[in-house]
Order: sequence, then structure tokens, then C-alpha cells
Amino acid sequence: MSPDFTPALKLDLGATPPGTAESDQQQVADGDSTVHDVVIVGSGPAGYTAAIYTGRANLKPVVIAGSVTAGGDLMQTTEVENYPGFTDGIMGPELMATMQAQAERFGADVRYEDAVKLELDGEVKKITVEGGEVLHAKTVILATGSAYRELGLEDEKRLSGHGVSWCATCDGFFFKGQNIAVVGGGDSAIEEATFLTKFADKVTLIHRRDEFRASEIMQKRAFDDPKIEILWNKQVIGISGESKVQELSLEDTVTGDVSALPVTGLFVAIGSDPRTDLFKDQVELTPEGTVAVQGRSSKTTLPGVFAAGDVLDPTYRQAVTAAGSGCVAAIDVEHYLAEHSARAQDQDQLTAPSAAQRSPLPH
Ligand SMILES: Cc1cc2nc3c(=O)[nH]c(=O)nc-3n(C[C@H](O)[C@H](O)[C@H](O)COP(=O)(O)OP(=O)(O)OC[C@H]3O[C@@H](n4cnc5c(N)ncnc54)[C@H](O)[C@@H]3O)c2cc1C
Repeated sequence: MSPDFTPALKLDLGATPPGTAESDQQQVADGDSTVHDVVIVGSGPAGYTAAIYTGRANLKPVVIAGSVTAGGDLMQTTEVENYPGFTDGIMGPELMATMQAQAERFGADVRYEDAVKLELDGEVKKITVEGGEVLHAKTVILATGSAYRELGLEDEKRLSGHGVSWCATCDGFFFKGQNIAVVGGGDSAIEEATFLTKFADKVTLIHRRDEFRASEIMQKRAFDDPKIEILWNKQVIGISGESKVQELSLEDTVTGDVSALPVTGLFVAIGSDPRTDLFKDQVELTPEGTVAVQGRSSKTTLPGVFAAGDVLDPTYRQAVTAAGSGCVAAIDVEHYLAEHSARAQDQDQLTAPSAAQRSPLPH
């Protein structure tokens, strides 16, 4: 079924132009709470870019940044070498701190809290944060990202950015001339493995079954590549190395035998899950589980609700694409608010008494 993007027939968000003192002061019926122009859920490159743009548009964005995961996926990595503007690369956490500071410079209100409930239908959206406070907003940008699936091993997190990676496009370059491994059996695992042969001397593809889930064409690519060795029926049960990956422990899924594989890198390619739990029953999702948006826009199936970054992207999932998508969402929010404020003004004029009906001015 294709998503239903039918816009709301009548939205009255108030006649006051967005971003003005009056609109910020607008009150809601069910409490003494400000109706914000925009609340952004998520503080990765998508969320902060949306905050920079909406901040500069004087919309005073509120960013619900997350309580322990503020800054998003790049907080887990070391050097980022492919984000434009940094000749010598930049550390992931530093890049995110810079984006946050830039958003705050334009008035973003960044709150280190998790959103625990979203009520997205209706003209005024409700965002409940941990602790019970309810924020109200005319628009919401969903920028909650996507979580790479992990193996669940003790040393996986510790060695993340030190040999363990979830992104060949991001980190392949660091493994020039090395002997590395990829875990997984789907299309993306084989794509990562073949991409990594551009850099590594040898790529061992580890799969826990005796056949791949990947498409025939992708499988052929792996079988034909002289730099790829495939280990069937093996699963990684341990990663060792003091400050960098040195060796993997593998268990044979048929015999239970344990063996060691010396490698300096491990790419985990067992899939990812868009973080949609909070709103998957309210906006339409694609078959891949990402948020469905209309064309190249950020518009979801609900008016006034926009999405940005990895949460809507099953394919590219890079910091720079997430940032670009945050920009798109911010501009869509601006257009939405301007359009509905203009519509509300038109309605006011239609309902205002005509000159003849007005009481005569006193002389
Ligand atoms: C280890 C690693 C290394 C990477 N290296 C690179 C690289 O070198 N170059 C590159 O371009 N890309 C890299 N990527 C990919 C890149 O990090 C992502 O594509 C990008 O961060 C996506 O941005 P995003 O804003 O969509 O989501 P995220 O960065 O995932 O941010 C999502 C945000 O949503 C918040 N959130 C989620 N749920 C809630 C909630 N209920 N309440 C409040 N907040 C919530 C999280 O706290 C987080 O702040 C890497 C990814 C990983 C995991």
C-alpha cells in the first residue's frame, strides 16, 4: 500500500506568524504550556542540522537530545575523515559538540532527556519526556536515527572505533593492507566485504550458516573475488586486543569447535533497526522499517510531522546525508508553518465583519 500523504483539509495553527514572540506565547487549552513552533527528537547530525536551520529561521527549536545517547552514532566513533570541511578529519564526539554549539548559537534549546511518548495527530502535537513533562508543538521532526545490530560480545563496544566497525564506507580506508573480517550473510555483508577489498589485503567473510541470504548476484561477487575467503558455519564468540583488535575467537556452529582468527579489523554487518518504536503506529513505515516520506521531502503521512536522517534512510546512512536530510526537514517545517499561518490569516479575514457591518467610528 502506498503511503497516504493527504494533507489536513483545515489546519488552524493561529494567525500569528511563526517564530514571533506572540506565537511563542500561544497557550494550549489543556495546560499552561507554550506551543513551540518545532520540537526535534534526536541529536545526531540530522537533529542538530535541523536545529541550526530552524534556529536561524527564528523558530526557537527545542531539541530532545536523549539522556545517555545525545550526539547520536558519531559519539561512538573515533576519527571521521569523510565529513566535508575538515581537511585532517575530526573526532566524532568533537564534530557533534561543534554541531550542538552551532545549533545553540542560533537559539536551540537542547534538553538531555528521552522522549517517552509522542502524540502526533492533531494540530498541536504532544511530546512527553522522561519525568512526565509534556511539550506541545506545531511541528515535530523525527530524527531518532537507526541502531546497527551488535553481536552482543563483551569487547565489541570497548573496541568500537579501534578495529570494530559497523560501516565500511566510513572506516574501510583505515584498513589499507590489513587482514580483516566481516560478519554477516545478507546483501549488505557481501557489499561491505567486496568494498573492503579495495583497501584490505584479505577479507574473511564469516557466516553462521552454510549458505548466504544474499541475492545470487551478490553471492557470485563474493565467490569470484580472490581477496575474499568465506568461513561457513562459524560465529564470532570473542574479540581480543588491548587497544586494537588482534584476534577473533570463532565457534563452529555445527561441531562446536573453537578456533582463533588473527585480524586487525572486524566489520559487523548483520543489519540495523531504524529507531521507530515511539511512533511506528502513528506514521507509515516502509517495508524496510524506515519512516515513509513523500518524494524527496521529509513529509510523513501525518501533517506537521517530518522525518530526517537514518530513520528514513535504508540506503545511504552517512553523517553528511543525515545532515542534508535535517536541512530538508527544517525547510519543510518553515514552509508548513508559513503556509498554515497564512491560511489562518485568510480565514480571519473571511470571518471579520465587513465595513458596512462594522459599527461607525465615533466622530
Ligand atoms: C561506529 C560508527 C561510526 C560511523 N562513522 C561514520 C563516519 O566516519 N562517517 C559518516 O559519514 N558516518 C559514519 N557513521 C554513520 C553516521 O554516524 C550516521 O549515518 C549518522 O549519525 C546518522 O545521523 P542521524 O542524526 O540520523 O542519527 P543518529 O546519529 O543515530 O542520532 C539519533 C539521535 O536520536 C536520539 N534518540 C533516539 N531515540 C530518542 C528518544 N526517544 N528520545 C530522545 N532522543 C532519541 C539519539 O539519542 C541520537 O541522539 C558511523 C556510525 C557508527 C555507528
